[in-house]
Amino acid sequence: MTKKFDAIVIGAGQAGPPLAGSLSAAGQTVAVIERKFIGGTCVNTGCKPTKTMVASAYAMFMARRAAEYGFSTGDIKADMGAVAARKDKVIMDSRSGVEGWLDGMERCTVFRGHATFVSPHEVSVNGEAISADRIFINVGGRANVPSMPGIDKVSYLTNSTMMEVDFLPEHLVIVGGSYIGLEFAQMFRRFGSKVTVVEKGPSLIGREDPEVSDAIKTILEEEGIAFRLKAECISFAPHEEGVSVGVDCDYGDRAVVGTHVLLAIGRIPNTGDLGLDKAGVKIDERGYITVDDELRTSQPHIFALGDCNGRGAFTHTAYNDFEIVAANLLDNESRRLSDRETAYALYIDPPLGRAGMTETEARKSGRKILVGTRPMTRVGRAVERGETKGFLKIVADADTQELLGAAFLGASGDEVVHGILDMIYARAPYTVMQRMVPIHPTVSELLPTVIAEMKPV
Ligand SMILES: Cc1cc2nc3c(=O)[nH]c(=O)nc-3n(C[C@H](O)[C@H](O)[C@H](O)COP(=O)(O)OP(=O)(O)OC[C@H]3O[C@@H](n4cnc5c(N)ncnc54)[C@H](O)[C@@H]3O)c2cc1C
Repeated sequence: MTKKFDAIVIGAGQAGPPLAGSLSAAGQTVAVIERKFIGGTCVNTGCKPTKTMVASAYAMFMARRAAEYGFSTGDIKADMGAVAARKDKVIMDSRSGVEGWLDGMERCTVFRGHATFVSPHEVSVNGEAISADRIFINVGGRANVPSMPGIDKVSYLTNSTMMEVDFLPEHLVIVGGSYIGLEFAQMFRRFGSKVTVVEKGPSLIGREDPEVSDAIKTILEEEGIAFRLKAECISFAPHEEGVSVGVDCDYGDRAVVGTHVLLAIGRIPNTGDLGLDKAGVKIDERGYITVDDELRTSQPHIFALGDCNGRGAFTHTAYNDFEIVAANLLDNESRRLSDRETAYALYIDPPLGRAGMTETEARKSGRKILVGTRPMTRVGRAVERGETKGFLKIVADADTQELLGAAFLGASGDEVVHGILDMIYARAPYTVMQRMVPIHPTVSELLPTVIAEMKPV
């Protein structure tokens, strides 16, 4: 017999659990289905564990600089078992927190198993059929493993299997020079591995302005990370030392040999095994579920939230999808995806905090723009901390005085960028920022100065 609920939530990632909480608080019966770990990617194999490991790597890096700060230590050596144990504790605390909350939630039944659609209102899990008036898909994504030559002949790591690494790879070759790849590159270099990043494109994190991408490359090279860009012929072969990664077919070094390989070449949505055709839910050519501005799929009673809709790739965007859906369905609001501004960070050290447009995007938009920059060597707080790498950049509209975007590559860049993000959401002219009195000494205190020094480009 089919069990009936008011709502079914497929996937307990970053949008599903809070949505279940809001629906159940509104008196609805909810089924939450999770096939692996409650908390999804962010908690188990994404943001939380990586940022925990980044913190270990940062502590080791700073300890190696002890003499600069006036103290001494012995030899700094990573204990990878202890690094992994610290990371596992953070994962388990977070996972069990969400798990306990869901398990104890009134009117909520948690199913542990793989969900597939049987019809537009019906889902099967562990051979059991359940149905609901509304269904919310929050299935997230996974590491992309394209069928590159030789990939089936070697063993490789992904962001998920990296979580099982409790040893120091002697030479880690990372295929993919974007956000995930670079975070792992710097942390493992700081733990003590030799690291080579192989990137197909001509630059790292190609979505960023060239000066941002170039500065990040220089910072990482200074720490001893090797890069192979324009690797247009990537292939894999077993090698007595581990794995040989082919990088070029025509010239230069043809291959990079490492002991371990990490694939960090993007993510793909978990939509192929959901039976979406049985539900009449449409996907695009890359497998993402197509949604309208309120997250409705091609079936108006089915919503898709988080990474699986291709409209965001972050925990905060997945959570915001929940906020939009809950506000519209339960509080009679009219919130929209298109109200969301771009904001994210790259957690290398120093971090890159980004808000709004890049300078390249602003130029392409045809606006008259102003750009202000300042090296971190001229930010007092950074000098005092001995962390002067990077720069601050702000982009504004010369006619409307609106702030269009910021790229802060520098100490606390991930935090400081919120000053600009707030202004973007407030649609306030940049002159407002010039009248505020910031705290001294902070990195943020320089924002009015950067704005005052903006020039037309
Ligand atoms: C290495 C790494 C670092 C990251 N760092 C950051 C960061 O610092 N900041 C940030 O904002 N974002 C970061 N992200 C991205 C972030 O993790 C994701 O954007 C976020 O987890 C997306 O949440 P979600 O709810 O869409 O999906 P997920 O968190 O992926 O959850 C989806 C859940 O659905 C389950 N599921 C899938 N299919 C089914 C099915 N058929 N039946 C039942 N259950 C199913 C999965 O098991 C999973 O638990 C990082 C990602 C990675 C990989």
